[in-house]
Amino acid sequence: VQITEIFASIQGESSYAGLPCIFVRLTACNLRCNWCDSEYTFSGGQKMAVEDVMVHVRSHAPIKLVEITGGEPMLQEREVIPLMQALIEEDYSVLLETSGERLLANVPREVMKIVDVKCPGSGEAGSFKTENLDFLNERDELKFVLAGREDYDFARQFLREHHLERRLRNIILSPAFKKDARGERTAEHCLLDPQELADWILRDGLNVRLGLQIHKFIWQPETKGV
Ligand code: SF4
Repeated sequence: VQITEIFASIQGESSYAGLPCIFVRLTACNLRCNWCDSEYTFSGGQKMAVEDVMVHVRSHAPIKLVEITGGEPMLQEREVIPLMQALIEEDYSVLLETSGERLLANVPREVMKIVDVKCPGSGEAGSFKTENLDFLNERDELKFVLAGREDYDFARQFLREHHLERRLRNIILSPAFKKDARGERTAEHCLLDPQELADWILRDGLNVRLGLQIHKFIWQPETKGV
């Protein structure tokens, strides 16, 4: 597996936000989202055997929650599926953060998938494979990162069109963070004001969760490896 970094931190997103978590960040991505904060994963990294990754993961005991992220981890499907299986065998709870641009059919059912649907503001709208909706079970999560009102309207339309609000327990609408955010840990760095997003969600009565990237508020927004 080509790995950019392995570290323990507080989970910043999804319904697992706030929990101690080990992050296994894989190298490379085939998308180029405008607000991407992980461009350092696009190249480089280090080739590691699954067992070497497991050694690093075990060194963060007693944490038993692992997120496989990137980059786009499913670009290395052949290597990452055995890693998921090894983690499951050792009783880790495994999260997979993915853009949904690759098919998720072979992801073991024990893995909890957190799947992004890219909105127009990302510059990568249309990259999501709608077949992936068939591979989501009710524990999985769908996430929309929003840069403005157009993205919110896109997300609302997508949810309605595919009847997802009743089917999935966790749908997350999250304001995008400014890529060049530096210094203070404030909501001013969000491309979309969280308060405005809250108003829209309440007005429309959407059965979704408003998500903030809490690691950007715990540490300086530019900090990597958190
Ligand atoms: S999919 Fe993720 S890693 Fe890839 S460009 Fe978009 S935000 Fe960055």
